Amino acid sequence: MNYFTFFLTNILTVTVFTVSVCLLTWNNRNVIGMRWFAGGMIVGLIKLILQGLEGRISSVFSDMVTNELYLVSFLLQMMGLRWFVNRRPLRKWWPLAGVGLALIVYTFMFLHKTRYAGNVINIPNILVCAVAAWILWKHGRDSFAVVSRVSAVILSIQVCVMGYRAWLTNVSYMRPWETVNAQTDPKWIDSLAAMSFLATCMVMCILWFLVTELGKELAEQAHTDPLTGAMNRRAMEEAALRETSRSIRYGHLPCMIMLDIDDFKRLNDTRGHAAGDVVLQALVNQIKPVLRVNDVLARTGGEEFTILLPNTSVSAGIVAAERVRQAIEALEVPFDDEPIRFTISAGVAQLDPAQGGWEGMMRRADKAMYEAKESGRNSVRPKPETREPEPSRKLFNAVL
Ligand code: GH3
Ligand code: MG
Ligand code: MG
Repeated sequence: MNYFTFFLTNILTVTVFTVSVCLLTWNNRNVIGMRWFAGGMIVGLIKLILQGLEGRISSVFSDMVTNELYLVSFLLQMMGLRWFVNRRPLRKWWPLAGVGLALIVYTFMFLHKTRYAGNVINIPNILVCAVAAWILWKHGRDSFAVVSRVSAVILSIQVCVMGYRAWLTNVSYMRPWETVNAQTDPKWIDSLAAMSFLATCMVMCILWFLVTELGKELAEQAHTDPLTGAMNRRAMEEAALRETSRSIRYGHLPCMIMLDIDDFKRLNDTRGHAAGDVVLQALVNQIKPVLRVNDVLARTGGEEFTILLPNTSVSAGIVAAERVRQAIEALEVPFDDEPIRFTISAGVAQLDPAQGGWEGMMRRADKAMYEAKESGRNSVRPKPETREPEPSRKLFNAVL
């Protein structure tokens, strides 16, 4: 296979990959990492076409622009991979400025036929690739752990092959503006084939990243209430089950707060359903900062919410419920010209294995919440100063 046939086959393969990745990106526009990656692939494809035309077009395009596009392509791919594992915005801009500087210096050196100009672009390229591998290795966690590790290994091999090619360039082809004999050098062709194979592996990895991301989103949707963004009943039941088995293992009992908006029907009737929806969203936004990070807030009914407080005594649960009640009482929800004020009633119960596990805890919290309603609403039961009897440790141990 000669150099031109190799490139033609490679270009056709990469075109199929690029079109597929672009279509997938278009269909999943919310997955920002794919946009970066698709951009990187388009730039990479242009680079490949120019490279394939070596000898047929000016070396400014087939060598200089090609090398520059290669660096840009790697940079875009690195940004895409970074998005998947580390969603924070870039804090340091100097690496990007460094790449920009390398491009300018390389252009200047190439046009002035400076020896070893290729290093100015090859070394940053190797660095970008190595940094991408390091980011994946460091930040790839949870569902992204395996794909990140695999991608980091592929990128590391890419770093080695790129290093080898940079070495070849320095040793054999240090005058890139001249027609080089690289096209017939098996070392050059073999390492190029290795690079294209590794690039194919990276495309597969990005698809793996996308599938993982979509799976994560789907699981989140299945556990989230779309109106308020709080968890839904299913997620709460799963969390309660998890907490129950954890409490059996460690003896740390969780608490549950059930709360219900007072006279919500009247609010809907007088201000409209849209006002009711805004109130539900405002309630979640107001409550979240009052809770601890490990507490689970879920919308378990129309205007009913449940909060699971891991490792919490009844008295601490009552204090938390009272804090939530006060936060809601103080809240003014802007709506049309007249802000809305509303209150909640809440009931608190602690897990007691002798009283029906987490379902029993829910029932008792619900019962306490209705007591709060009956006592005139806008209150917490048991009352903040009274206590539900702590579950007997002996009984708890007996159940274990
Ligand atoms: P109480 O103080 O006894 O809890 O009275 P209430 O009016 O809050 O309770 P009730 O159960 O009579 O009414 C609940 C209302 O919540 C009825 C229903 O239309 C409304 N609701 C349920 N889900 C939604 C929702 O998603 N959006 C809006 N706007 N209203 C909802
Ligand atoms: Mg209500
Ligand atoms: Mg209700």
